[in-house]
Formats: sequence, structure tokens, C-alpha cells
Amino acid sequence: MTLNVGVIGTGMIGQDHIRRLSRVLSGVRVAAMTDVDLTRARAAAVEGATVHESGQALIADPDVDAVLVTSWGPTHEEYVLAGIAAGKQVFCEKPLAPTRAACERIMDAEVAGGRRLVSVGFMRRYDAQYRALKAAVTGGEIGAPLLMHAAHRNPSVPDTYTSDMIISDTAVHDVDVARWMFDDEVAAVTVLKPRVSAKAKAGFHDPLFVLLEMANGVLVDVEASVNAGFGYDIRGEVVGEDGTAELSESAGAVVKRAGSYAGRVPRDWRERFVHAFDAELQAWIDAVTGGDTSGPSVWDGYAATVVCETGLAALRSDAREPVVLRDVPDLYKEPSR
Ligand code: NAP
Repeated sequence: MTLNVGVIGTGMIGQDHIRRLSRVLSGVRVAAMTDVDLTRARAAAVEGATVHESGQALIADPDVDAVLVTSWGPTHEEYVLAGIAAGKQVFCEKPLAPTRAACERIMDAEVAGGRRLVSVGFMRRYDAQYRALKAAVTGGEIGAPLLMHAAHRNPSVPDTYTSDMIISDTAVHDVDVARWMFDDEVAAVTVLKPRVSAKAKAGFHDPLFVLLEMANGVLVDVEASVNAGFGYDIRGEVVGEDGTAELSESAGAVVKRAGSYAGRVPRDWRERFVHAFDAELQAWIDAVTGGDTSGPSVWDGYAATVVCETGLAALRSDAREPVVLRDVPDLYKEPSR
């Protein structure tokens, strides 16, 4: 059986997902696409796909079995809600929505329907290195976890990127990793501001040091920067009572010659996480084809957004800010697959 997918938003990641859906993954066909810029949608169209005038028209198309939302974050809510109303499975790129209130409206709609239809694109959960790190932690290899040190260094960001996005768009991945790694919620956030890089855009505190306190007492520090220049550098090390476990330095070869050694630093997130994106979407396609869903849930998307909102409050207050979450609805008590 082939799953017919419609893609809303044909910008950077929308085009990348269309490429993998049509050329890399199996059991799937890109049936339709749209974008607020229809010229861009037409340029991204693959053979046999319908270009719709709006996201709503795409969701209503009977030839679309499931929907991929890859438009800009503030537009996600409208399309995710329409997908739920149509009873279609929706894969929404992170963030689920940029505000707590918008995430709660999505949660209320999904809970009212009584069925999980929405999956959120936190692809690090599908990365081989992160999975190996989690296996070492949950397998007890390093004893009880105490701390995690993480770094998320972007070489650069587009002009449309705003200073708040260092937390809401960049560190949000590390927030999701922390929740998933320790199977726990973030209880409080503090944001420290190191000396500002001379390369930072005016008005940016870059880098930032984000301290997440997990409910069970584990501390997670995240260095988030968006002007590292040298490449896309992702780090993670968990410190346990009996040892440490960390992401390996490189998935490629380390070359030793002439008294030194060197390896490649990925150019950007597309290169670093290419296989994670493939695995994430293939798992979703297979689950949806089998009448199920997979991946981070609406609860995961909501919790990540609330932690980031709290982080932005901490950035402004220079104080430790507690994270306040709703009670978990029964629909999300079974862990995400
Ligand atoms: P992008 O290049 O700006 O693409 C977004 C596209 O959506 C643009 O073509 C935009 O058109 C279009 N759009 C805006 N409003 C729309 C609407 N109401 N209906 C339909 N299309 C609309 O951004 P991107 O980098 O691809 O990011 C898209 C989403 O993916 C964001 O939520 C981002 O956080 C997420 N993302 C996730 C990852 C990851 O690591 N998982 C990586 C990258 C991006 P205009 O440009 O004309 O507004």
C-alpha cells in the first residue's frame, strides 16, 4: 500500500522532505503540496502531484491520506487543527506551535477526538548517536544519571532568525532531548548570558547558556549559539554515578596523518541529521500505513514549547523560572513510540 502525503510549506525543510519522500523512503507518494507562495509550491512539485491554492484545500483533498506541515511555526496550529478535524494523520515539524495557548488548543482538539493523530518533528530521537547515548543511560552502563552537558552550535542563521529563536527554535531540540533522554519533565529554567560574540547580530545574546532542571534533579546545561562559523557542532555528554557517556565526535572517518588527526564537521543540520530525518519519516509512514502513529506526541510538542516560553521568561528576568505544565491527559500517558 502507498501512503499519499500532502505537504504544506515548500520552503527549506519542506523541499528537503519532498526529496526524501519521493526519492529515498518507501511506501509513500507525494500527492499534493501548497505554500503561501504558489510559485514556490509549483517549483517544488513532483510528477503527478496536485498544487493546491491553500493548506485547507490540500487537507480536504480525498487523494491526501496524511499531511506534512512544514510551513512557518505560527501557521502550524491552523493546519494541525484542520488535519485533526478531517481525521487525518499529521506530521508537524517542530515547533508544534510557538505558544502554550496554541499547543493547548491542539491538545484539546486531539483529546476530544480520543485518538492520537499528530506527530511532532523532533528528529534527534531517531539519530543513531543519540539512540546509542540513550541506550547507554537507560541500560545502566554509567549508573544513575546526574548531569548532561550539551552544545548546539550553528554555523550561521538566516536574516529572518530573531534573537528569541536561539531558545525557541534552536535550544528547543535540546529541551526535547533532555525530556526523552531522562523520561522526565523539565521543572525549571535559568538562562545565563556569557560574553557576546563579536559575530552576533545586533540585539542578540549569542551564545546563551540554558540550564534545565529536570524534575528528578538531573541538571542539563545547553550551550546554544548561532554564529559558530566553523560548522554545525552538536554535543552531548551524560555524567552518571559510575561513568560518562557521550555522543561520538563524528559519524565519519577520523584521518590521522603527519602527526595530527582530523574529521569532518557537518556543514549544517541537514547533513548532520540526514539519516535521523529519513528514519523519523519512514517510521511515521510505516505506522500510519498500519493505522497507527509514531514519534513525539502533542504532549511532547506542548511540553517543549512551554519550557521554551519559560526559558524566554528566564532570559528576560535573569532569574530561575519554574515550568508549569497541565496534568497529562490519559491520551498521552502511554509513551510515544
Ligand atoms: P522556510 O524556508 O521559511 O519555509 C517555510 C515555508 O512556509 C515558506 O515557503 C513560507 O513562505 C511558507 N509559508 C508561510 N506561511 C504559510 C502559510 N500560511 N501556509 C503555507 N505556507 C506558508 O522555513 P523552514 O526552515 O523550512 O522551516 C519550516 C518549519 O520547519 C519551521 O517550523 C521550522 O522550525 C521547522 N524546521 C525544523 C527543522 C528540524 O531540525 N527538525 C529544521 C528546519 C526547519 P514565505 O517564505 O513566503 O513566508
